[in-house]
Amino acid sequence: MSNVIRLLPDHVANQIAAGEVVQRPASVVKELIENAVDAGATEIKLIVKEAGKTLIQVIDNGKGMSEIDSRMAFERHATSKITMAEDLFALRTKGFRGEALASIAAIAHVELKTCEEGADLGTHLVIDGSKLVSQEEAVLTKGTSFSVKNLFFNIPARRNFLKSDTVEFRHVVDEFERVALAHPGIHFILIHNGSEMFNLPESNLRQRIVNVFGPKTNEKLVPIQETTEIVSVEGFVGKPEFAKKSRGEQFFFVNDRFIKSAYLHHAVLNAFEGLLKEGTHPSYFLYLTLPADAIDINIHPTKTEVKFDDEQALYAILRAAIKHSLGQFNVAPVLDFQRDATMDTPYEFLDKKAATPTIEIDMNFNPFKEEATSRKQDYNPFEHNQTSYVSGSRSSSDSGRGMTFSSKASFEKLGRDQIESTTSMYEDLRESAKELDFSKIELEEDVKEISLFDGASEDLSTSKSFQLQRKYIVSPIKTGMVVIDQGRAHQRILYEKFLENITIKQAPSQQLLFPLTLYYSAYEIQLLKDSESALKLTGFVFDSIEKEQLVISGLPVHVAESEASIVLDELIQELQGSPSEDGFSLNDRIAKSLAHSLSVKTGTVLNEEEQESMVNALFACKDPSISPFLKPTFITMKVDDIEKRFTL
Ligand code: ADP
Ligand code: MG
Repeated sequence: MSNVIRLLPDHVANQIAAGEVVQRPASVVKELIENAVDAGATEIKLIVKEAGKTLIQVIDNGKGMSEIDSRMAFERHATSKITMAEDLFALRTKGFRGEALASIAAIAHVELKTCEEGADLGTHLVIDGSKLVSQEEAVLTKGTSFSVKNLFFNIPARRNFLKSDTVEFRHVVDEFERVALAHPGIHFILIHNGSEMFNLPESNLRQRIVNVFGPKTNEKLVPIQETTEIVSVEGFVGKPEFAKKSRGEQFFFVNDRFIKSAYLHHAVLNAFEGLLKEGTHPSYFLYLTLPADAIDINIHPTKTEVKFDDEQALYAILRAAIKHSLGQFNVAPVLDFQRDATMDTPYEFLDKKAATPTIEIDMNFNPFKEEATSRKQDYNPFEHNQTSYVSGSRSSSDSGRGMTFSSKASFEKLGRDQIESTTSMYEDLRESAKELDFSKIELEEDVKEISLFDGASEDLSTSKSFQLQRKYIVSPIKTGMVVIDQGRAHQRILYEKFLENITIKQAPSQQLLFPLTLYYSAYEIQLLKDSESALKLTGFVFDSIEKEQLVISGLPVHVAESEASIVLDELIQELQGSPSEDGFSLNDRIAKSLAHSLSVKTGTVLNEEEQESMVNALFACKDPSISPFLKPTFITMKVDDIEKRFTL
């Protein structure tokens, strides 16, 4: 037998790696400018021709490279920025992978001129498609100049895939702006086809934003400033009245690095809720500083996504900081602070008419008779359960009163459903569900209406629920109290709702006055196409999905226009992870993702009615005890246990 496995030659490996690092001229721009920033430059000049297709040159006055380093720099995994895996958790530089230069040199004609401070001579290198063509000493000023010509000269397929100069140049400008906004202390210049497009002298942050986006920007900015132990937030948001139809000027920087985060974006929108005209997008320039070990940048090859240790806290802090500033600068009417506008359209249930529940009554049902044999072993979210859904819509009664049950049996049935699903799937939650055990609540035979959480005989007025830390809903029950995690509970409610829409009955949609156009990469469009039919069932209406754009003319009833792109962004992120094997898991993932994006978050104030309808809707779910992401949605505390603690 012969051995057939060989290591790939470096230039082939580099070309393959280049596919990941370099998608288009803008990727090269990003890598070269970031290298210049890492080299400590105070002035960085970017020169491009034909949107970077024929030339990308970056000239910096940074620390330069020695002769040996200038050769080493083009080796794969050659970097001066980290030496140990641990360094990944304390990154202070933009780069750290050591693959950019090797990748770029594999697919272009590269020329490097570099000189260290105090050196008599510098180095002049020419590399074509990974091959060293020449190396000479040269008289140079301190700093480095990289020229990258004829990108993809040896990969015609890639070259043909490039878009028009206008589109490619837009991408180049995007990258340039992101780095320029992250580093106002550096002087940046951009020259395209011989004309100067940007000249941004060293300045403070506000001035940098104004220099990038034009003098009119100044009056539109509201400063944000908040320092906590977890994070410090600085920067600006645009006044709501200047919000735009397109969502261009939205920037998050974490430790001076531009990042994308649908979740934090949502926090910002949340802070703006009620202040924006329908269909407009606020601009923001937000700079978060966290300890380097509280984030993980290493999760994405092009490094625009970041993983945070404490995402929920960031969400709450960011939202509060923005709300505070919008209020302080008198942008928001005072009223909006008393009344949390985020909850104006809480649950789809609320705007439905009350329906009289039709409940099958099984008088012989005994919840204490354990049904070991008849337990469902597999959770099937598609299985329709009359009682649950009916109860769900019942809770939407106009009066806003809680879900009530007209018979003991139906009450018990709910308890049974809950225990059943709990025991079958989530053994560890079994105990907590049993503690809640509705079936054990003693009921008078003659009680006609029983409110789930008030307990049979208690005075309604003294046993209302309340919100704890804007995170939990605490509700008294006969045996003690139940503490519900509002975010997880809402996820469960929405998840079942969406699954129901996708599999059983199509949800209605709200038509948009003006169709909404969103732009995506071809790959992202493909992911959306795969989900198209499910999304339509939840209420999305797509006019067209093609090439790089998506036109939406209708949305699910409870999705605000401003949320549409977040919801889809998060869905794309979720689907990018790994392919779904079948329709079932795809639908499930879509429902989960939508539920995650649209659920109320920690920090959201819920009024009494909203709390109540949340509690009722949760317990009308098929699987109330667990979130779609398998986290417990509530815990219970018995009076007995509380008493025990007092007698210690
Ligand atoms: P990384 O930035 O991940 O370290 P690169 O391939 O981008 O990897 O760069 C390799 C190395 O080349 C860097 O670690 C740095 O030491 C050096 N280098 C690249 N660009 C410059 C520059 N403009 N000035 C000085 N050194 C540079
Ligand atoms: Mg680099």
